[in-house]
Amino acid sequence: MVEITGGCQCGAVRFRATEAPVATRACWCRVCQYIAAGNATVNVCFQTGSFFVEGELADYEAVADSGNRMHRRFCPRCGTPLFSEAENRPHLIFVRAGALDDPEIARPVATIWTASAPSWACIDAALPTVERQPPPL
Ligand SMILES: [Zn+2]
Ligand SMILES: [Zn+2]
Repeated sequence: MVEITGGCQCGAVRFRATEAPVATRACWCRVCQYIAAGNATVNVCFQTGSFFVEGELADYEAVADSGNRMHRRFCPRCGTPLFSEAENRPHLIFVRAGALDDPEIARPVATIWTASAPSWACIDAALPTVERQPPPL
């Protein structure tokens, strides 16, 4: 059985997944650059049905570059970015790879929103890229 665990820096929020991730992508959209301190975020997508969270989350709701209404969730105590969820895709949760106990799990298979990346961005030439929003998973 799969057991993937993680949490925020201070430990107030913990999560676990009991199924392997659907996909992992690096995202250079403008919102992700705020979250990742100027870099791309790495997001590991799980099915919400096999994903469990303990602890209080803060929620920042906004319309993303994709046009989707997103809930960006983070620890209210330490501020670690944790999850992103789109209202129109409630069966999926995107987990910020830095919050995994074992970040080795989060090897990206594609880079998305490269059109928003700065000229100095390090983008893995070995991976497929998508200039803007990719088709839904
Ligand atoms: Zn925390
Ligand atoms: Zn993004």
